Amino acid sequence: MLTEIALIIGLVIAVFLIARLSRYILKEVRALKVIRIYDDRHWDFDHILSQYNPYYKSLDDTVRDRFLRRVLHFMEDKEFEYIDLEKEERMPLLISAAAVQLTFGLEHYLLDYFKTIYILRENYRFGLYNMPFEGHVSEDGIYLSWANFIREFTDYSDGQNVGLHEMAHALTYVNFTVDDGKDDTFHDKFKDFSEVARPIFERMQAGESTILDPYAATNYQEFWAVSIETFFERAHAFKKQLPELYTSLCSLLNQDPLTPRKIIDATFLEEMAGTLSETALSSEVLPAPEGTQL
Ligand SMILES: [Zn+2]
Repeated sequence: MLTEIALIIGLVIAVFLIARLSRYILKEVRALKVIRIYDDRHWDFDHILSQYNPYYKSLDDTVRDRFLRRVLHFMEDKEFEYIDLEKEERMPLLISAAAVQLTFGLEHYLLDYFKTIYILRENYRFGLYNMPFEGHVSEDGIYLSWANFIREFTDYSDGQNVGLHEMAHALTYVNFTVDDGKDDTFHDKFKDFSEVARPIFERMQAGESTILDPYAATNYQEFWAVSIETFFERAHAFKKQLPELYTSLCSLLNQDPLTPRKIIDATFLEEMAGTLSETALSSEVLPAPEGTQL
């Protein structure tokens, strides 16, 4: 009897160790793959990002390289499914860049919980909703319509950006709905953000107009996602009209879009300096699907 129990315990420990070893090997293989891709394609990807992502284009040289490496890690970490459209090389690159832009000042940026990103051609119907969707986040993945994604990054001044909007939902989902790679600092600071944000949200629900799109008054999750779109695309006007909300977002995300270097506190970056395999970086997403309806 004792021998059988010892055998079972031994087996359980062996399975646990093998699982851990497999995860470690997978991470290392992925890290090596990212290094290879970086070495081979660095300038191609730099060119695409400079052309289509204004945030990347505005980055100081000292952080541009770090942004690109994060994008490659994110892209390798996800499966991209193309629904009714042909894959283009720029698609996964630019979608990954939208996520990395949002989380650039955070330590954990992989939105780990989400394994799959679905790319649709244009507006689509979802579930029982009557309105067409530009994108949404649900427990099975992040959904984005490519026509809207690329159009809204091309017009980077109107505060409409479905890529940043859905990544904002994804970030809160991983931090508050599931526990799969959350960023502790973001998680803990969200309360401070809400102290400033909630009263503004409530005033918008009561009918007040602000720089934020009226869609922000739909519910607090949409207020968050719309705030992110405006934070990046209309930073100057946002800071002028809602300075406290702007400052609280800077603090929450540890970045200021109005500065070339973006990142405010680079302490954790210095600790990681020189490491390509930022494999410990991750984060999480939302309960009901949070979409951008038209
Ligand atoms: Zn939304």
